[in-house]
Amino acid sequence: MYSARGTYRPAPPRSRAAFIDRDGNLIHEVGYISNLKRVKFYSRSIKAIKLLKDGGYKVIVVTNQSGVARGYFTESFVKKTHLHINCLLKKYGLKIDGFYYCPHHRTKAVLKRYLKDCDCRKPKTGMIKAAAKKFNIDIKKSVVIGDKLTDVHLGKNAGTKTALVLTGYGKEEKALISKAYDRPDFIGRDFYAAAKWFAALNKRKKP
Ligand SMILES: [Mg+2]
Ligand SMILES: [Zn+2]
Repeated sequence: MYSARGTYRPAPPRSRAAFIDRDGNLIHEVGYISNLKRVKFYSRSIKAIKLLKDGGYKVIVVTNQSGVARGYFTESFVKKTHLHINCLLKKYGLKIDGFYYCPHHRTKAVLKRYLKDCDCRKPKTGMIKAAAKKFNIDIKKSVVIGDKLTDVHLGKNAGTKTALVLTGYGKEEKALISKAYDRPDFIGRDFYAAAKWFAALNKRKKP
């Protein structure tokens, strides 16, 4: 990379990230969350985040929240939920680096501003692209972890590794795997299992 003066400056190293699904992966799947009391981490989620952070990964939540479009809760509630999650993580000295959510729905929105065939609803890659730009992320060396085939498809569309977890809707979704596009690189019992797999995978690749 050359600056305006023509002196050579090496490009800053790019980060690797775990793009993680929220409901059914990080926290319990309870339908649409509309009360902060329903925010509960899976038992090994804290450990999973710690492992990823210790490995130098950015941890970024990517979540479809069409409940906003459907009028079940507001966008400000989604933001509040994310602040709450980081507040809970703080006592472990941890935090999620970024929260990305899609509030839209293509057909089911009761509020017109959310009625949109957007680029951010998973499996479309808008959220990953925005995060990759902001955090200078090397997408190929990153992973998507989630409990739905939508998460697997998101990773395939973006060009990351993919992991399906069996919490949340994971077991039902695993049964729906039928073609190569559905097949994750890893299937594990939960977020921690996926984090461990991903961290080990990268270690093996180092020269
Ligand atoms: Mg999910
Ligand atoms: Zn969207």
